Amino acid sequence: MSENSIGNPLKKLRCVRCLLNAIDDKTALEIVNKYKADTPECDRALPEVYRQRLDTCLDCKYLERGVCLKCGYYVEARMYRKGGACPLKLF
Ligand code: SF4
Repeated sequence: MSENSIGNPLKKLRCVRCLLNAIDDKTALEIVNKYKADTPECDRALPEVYRQRLDTCLDCKYLERGVCLKCGYYVEARMYRKGGACPLKLF
């Protein structure tokens, strides 16, 4: 039996703990990007704060395919706002 007929099991693995910009979900990424573009500048978190928040999410077991399993939001959208907060108070 060739590898092609049984498939490569590693190819079935998906990235679970990652942000939308790293996975192939263009629709969700478009929604998040539109949300970010529509957020008034005065309501946006500072870029370094946004980056720190996303870095924390990337290390969190509750991040799954861009969604926080604790609050249900796309973290790249929620944390873009000044008031974006972690439900576990990690930031
Ligand atoms: S918002 Fe908090 S709980 Fe949710 S993924 Fe980010 S760090 Fe984890």
